[in-house]
Amino acid sequence: MQEPATLWHATAAFATLRPQVKGEITADLLVIGGGFAGLSTALHAAEAGLKVVLLEANQIASGATGRNAGFVVPNFAKVDPDGIRATLGEANGNQLVQMAATSADLVFDLISRHAIACDAHRSGWIQPAHSETALNRAKDRVRQWSAEGRPVEFLTAAAVQTLTGAQGWLGGWIDHSGGVLNPVAYARGLASAAEKAGAHLHENSRVTALTATPNGWQARTETATIQAHKVVNVTNAYADTLIPGLAHSFFPLKVFQIATEPLPQSVRQRLLPGGQCVSDSRRNLFTFRFDAANRLITGGMHILGLGADARVPKAIHRRMAQMLDLPELPPLQYAWSGIAAVMRNFLPRLITPAPGLIAGIACNGRGIAMTTAMGRELALWATGTPAESLAIPATAPAPIPLHALMRHAPNALLPISQWRDRIESPAGLGR
Ligand SMILES: Cc1cc2nc3c(=O)[nH]c(=O)nc-3n(C[C@H](O)[C@H](O)[C@H](O)COP(=O)(O)OP(=O)(O)OC[C@H]3O[C@@H](n4cnc5c(N)ncnc54)[C@H](O)[C@@H]3O)c2cc1C
Repeated sequence: MQEPATLWHATAAFATLRPQVKGEITADLLVIGGGFAGLSTALHAAEAGLKVVLLEANQIASGATGRNAGFVVPNFAKVDPDGIRATLGEANGNQLVQMAATSADLVFDLISRHAIACDAHRSGWIQPAHSETALNRAKDRVRQWSAEGRPVEFLTAAAVQTLTGAQGWLGGWIDHSGGVLNPVAYARGLASAAEKAGAHLHENSRVTALTATPNGWQARTETATIQAHKVVNVTNAYADTLIPGLAHSFFPLKVFQIATEPLPQSVRQRLLPGGQCVSDSRRNLFTFRFDAANRLITGGMHILGLGADARVPKAIHRRMAQMLDLPELPPLQYAWSGIAAVMRNFLPRLITPAPGLIAGIACNGRGIAMTTAMGRELALWATGTPAESLAIPATAPAPIPLHALMRHAPNALLPISQWRDRIESPAGLGR
């Protein structure tokens, strides 16, 4: 399979393809999936002294890891500390809140510890509010995350305008521990760090079967058999039928991204002069950031799948120009899409189908920091920590009822979200 044609693949430093796995191999830990979650698991488990083999069906970062917007966001889209504790109980909730709160610290720490060149900037993540309700929620989010000791701040409408260069939002908040990076370069850096720590990584190596054995698990690919004591499956929304029921445990959400050609310095100085990333409070999110060469990047979703690949990039391109008051439509240079796995409660989940086998999903559209942190948890499991003691709740597989129908719900409900966003927004900001 060819590398995805994303901005990030085109601009990250070249990486040589790793060899396909061949022959009979043994390992303490087999990691299935070469995204942030798999790479972070492999790195942390290898650093802990395990013999680790990671198998990726395509290339490292060919899933959501290479297709996202590169926003490092240390919180969840829909749930904050109070809600997490209410859902999981005080003790488990505290663990997950702590994991989320420090997840961007982990990303930027790994980048500096392993000297990963990925255009990373810890410039902060901004969430402007599009409505009075969202503004009140921003105040509450600041209250909750500052109680966790996080570097967060409420922003007035004027402050949002100064930081973003765009008009109309009612205020918002910033988490200064977030930031931006080139996700493909970050993933490739994690892969090299994992190899330096002793992990064996293979590309074009799809696992096609998993069988329990007296000593653990046997995995098969077209060209190899791997015997491992433990297996971590982190195939995210790209899960196939390897673990029965896994692909039915989440909503697969297709998200589109675009990047313009590099923009003139005059635009760059007006918009996001501090280089932050922005995801506003709408249900139909409006997001934007610049890359290192001043390309403007935004994203969006589709309602109808038919023809979406041609239609949606144009629509989100126009929306970006309108939202940011650009005098003309800047030329489009890249358009791509990826699939995010979204859980019913919007929180990360570990799934334990059988002893010695665990699957992890921490995507929920905010996965750079969360899946990196989940990888560290999964490495703890691989070295002997019981699943129930980890920061992420672990459960048996729980397929979503009527999944064949329900999987379309996030897209089908988009027109209602757009309508609600519009009626809540003051005039001039309802686009
Ligand atoms: C368009 C888009 C924009 C996003 N923007 C952001 C953002 O700005 N910030 C943020 O924090 N998050 C963002 N996300 C979410 C984030 O990208 C993901 O949460 C994260 O990359 C998930 O990483 P992962 O390792 O769990 O899965 P993935 O990166 O999806 O990796 C799964 C891998 O498993 C492999 N695989 C599948 N089956 C097999 C098999 N049988 N054998 C071997 N390998 C297999 C796949 O090939 C794939 O490479 C975005 C997501 C999308 C789709």
